[in-house]
Amino acid sequence: MRLQNTLKQEIAIRGQGIHTGRMINMCIKPASHDTGVVFIRTDKGNINIKANVGTVSDTTFATTLSSEGVKVGTVEHLLAALAGLNIDNVFVELDGPEVPILDGSALPLVSAIMKSGIAKQAKAVSCLRILEPVAVSEGSSHIAITPYDGTRVTYRLFYTHPAFGEQKMGLDITEKTFINELAPARTFGFLRDVEMLKSKGLAQGASLENVIALGDEKVINERNLRFNNEFVRHKILDAVGDLSLIGLPIYGHIIANKSGHTLHIKLLKKLLLNRDTWEIVSPAVLTSTVTELAAQI
Ligand SMILES: [Zn+2]
Repeated sequence: MRLQNTLKQEIAIRGQGIHTGRMINMCIKPASHDTGVVFIRTDKGNINIKANVGTVSDTTFATTLSSEGVKVGTVEHLLAALAGLNIDNVFVELDGPEVPILDGSALPLVSAIMKSGIAKQAKAVSCLRILEPVAVSEGSSHIAITPYDGTRVTYRLFYTHPAFGEQKMGLDITEKTFINELAPARTFGFLRDVEMLKSKGLAQGASLENVIALGDEKVINERNLRFNNEFVRHKILDAVGDLSLIGLPIYGHIIANKSGHTLHIKLLKKLLLNRDTWEIVSPAVLTSTVTELAAQI
């Protein structure tokens, strides 16, 4: 059991939104305990959008949250960086509709958080512990969560592409593994999809600076790959971000096969609807258990 965390100092970041192509100013600010992650659209009358599964409004190509008709898109890499570094409470001010894509990974966000410093708060964090397996599927894609002592993700992706077929990775998610194994892994996309999206007015900010592009035969920016299996690492990064929308750290093993944002959110909704499959482990419960044990000695 650990204490809740926020930032020591504000973080100011300016960068392009991958879908709108707009330059966006983002300011991540410390927040008091039990706040969670709250986005604030400063260009839309300071509308607050709390990061949780209830505000998810779209999962096509990225995870979008909405409140009172106001959106914030591409939240998953920032949510992953916050969850990966155990930051529970922050306000994220944005003067546009997207979190900046930066280099397509969570590394610049992790570096900025480390520079700011992490402040421990006066209250301990509660965790959501999985008691029974829960699974969702869609065609050949599926994702499940099973009981596990800690947080683990095992992910398999598969494409019929000459440059790569299957990539599989299993990893216990800790601050250290998140920083070293996941944070640097960048977004990837098929060049033909990026061109199609651009023609529809989407992916306006996508470039070889922020996306690993797959041509029909090979990876276009192949020499710059940060890991041989950068794709599956990025999928795990996305899962860490999306699954944090349940609002508490999860103790469980996530096992995914060709999953994505849509299935991640479906899994969270199914979990929340099946109350007997998990329990909230709060510091108070643990304290009373220890007190009971102590009384029996
Ligand atoms: Zn991503």
